[in-house]
Amino acid sequence: MSDSCIFCRIVGGSIPATVVASNDVAMAFRDLSPQAPTHVLVIPRRHLASLATADDAAELGAVLSLAAEVARIEGIADSGYRVVSNVGGDGGQTVGHLHLHVLGGRQMSWPPG
Ligand code: AMP
Repeated sequence: MSDSCIFCRIVGGSIPATVVASNDVAMAFRDLSPQAPTHVLVIPRRHLASLATADDAAELGAVLSLAAEVARIEGIADSGYRVVSNVGGDGGQTVGHLHLHVLGGRQMSWPPG
């Protein structure tokens, strides 16, 4: 837990978020600036800077599983969706707490920008 990390503060409840799903390991909440009709962030409750410093396969599996559950909850599991984790500067990461973006509800393009 880091007081300076906004996602840790969401986990701790001092910053509000619209929670979509949650369990002991991970939580999912709506992105403040949605880039698609469904845009949900899935994070580990434990502070991890990014995928680059992830060290627990079970924890990562729980985060990934929750992303798939979010897609079912949001009704995009059958139509399709995208799961993205931006890592570091070139990856476009702006919040230093590992997160998966679950994006869906529209046709995605490739390559990403
Ligand atoms: P990234 O650029 O991959 O690090 O993604 C960070 C995401 O966090 C962006 O899509 C932001 O819109 C989102 N974001 C930042 N602050 C909040 C917040 N307080 N609640 C929900 N989403 C947030």
